[in-house]
Amino acid sequence: MRWVIPLGRIAGIPIGVNWTWLPIVALVIANYASDVFPSQNPGLSGTTYLVMAAALALLFFAGLLLHELGHALVAKRQGMQIEGITLWLLGGVARILGEFPSPGAEFRVAVAGPAVSFVIGATFAAVAWLAPLPDAVDGVVVWMGISNLFLLAFNLIPAYPLDGGRILHAVLWRFQRDRGSATRVSVGIGRGFGLVMIGLGVAAVAFGLGPGLVWLSVVGLFLVMAAGGEGRTEHVREMLDGLTVADVIERDPVCVLPTLTLAEFFDAVVWSQRYTTYPVFDGEHVVGMLPFRNVAAVPRSRWEDTRISEVMTPLESVVLLDEQETLTEAVGRLAADPLQRGLVIEDDRLVGLVSVSDVARAFERRARGM
Ligand SMILES: [Zn+2]
Repeated sequence: MRWVIPLGRIAGIPIGVNWTWLPIVALVIANYASDVFPSQNPGLSGTTYLVMAAALALLFFAGLLLHELGHALVAKRQGMQIEGITLWLLGGVARILGEFPSPGAEFRVAVAGPAVSFVIGATFAAVAWLAPLPDAVDGVVVWMGISNLFLLAFNLIPAYPLDGGRILHAVLWRFQRDRGSATRVSVGIGRGFGLVMIGLGVAAVAFGLGPGLVWLSVVGLFLVMAAGGEGRTEHVREMLDGLTVADVIERDPVCVLPTLTLAEFFDAVVWSQRYTTYPVFDGEHVVGMLPFRNVAAVPRSRWEDTRISEVMTPLESVVLLDEQETLTEAVGRLAADPLQRGLVIEDDRLVGLVSVSDVARAFERRARGM
């Protein structure tokens, strides 16, 4: 099942919406059309309330997108890559690849989103306050102001990985000059906020303050889980710290010729070697990679007349790494690749092969203190 519905690209960044968002949007529209707007702006028709609610949802969605674009575009300016923006149940996520090069960069990226929400919220609030608007428009503008200022306040809670927590992380990192310690403190605070919210939600429901407040617990649970994820990422980062591709590379791997048939490959290579993936080398250049599963996907009856060049993964689709690249950076690219492997090629010459499992072994050795 695909969870993300693609909506297109803005500034080259793919935008998508997680479908868990849609039922929430429907619920919110129903609530505003039948309850909030009729009590706040009485005397309008049912259709008008429905249009108002739909317009508010659409505007809020656009505001959320602008908030995430704020993060993404500033990150791009800091030289970072953006995988995409996904809007989901509790807001949006701009997936920024790699690591922040400095606390300053992390600070600027973290502040950009709330700054956008502040401008939107303040503008709509000011217009609602100052401009004489027809009732139907006024209702939408007021709520657009309120909801964006609420979004701003929520995001500024200093609970990692919310924006406020990231700002706190950047500040701690700047003053302690120790990224690992800044992360541990931020993760601890994030988890603390999450636990308090879970408790408040449970207490609110137990004391009959309304079942709606169970949302506090849901958001709290999300914070606790997200903080745990950030903590693990930091642990991996510390374990791989100082290691480069050169430390785990497998030099002079067994290569195969592109002109071999699969039957020849099977007889000559598979029985005598223990590898599952082979670089394909035509005598002068590396032209691709042959994972055994590409061979297995071809029916056995065709192995006699199918050549490796027909089933290999071409070099354009293979992850290329640099020997000096840090492992933290390399592992991100390798893990995202279907082959889970990459090649190091220097001056047109194959230096070696690196796989996710090589990185995992290096990680284990470090973790066991070897
Ligand atoms: Zn944000």
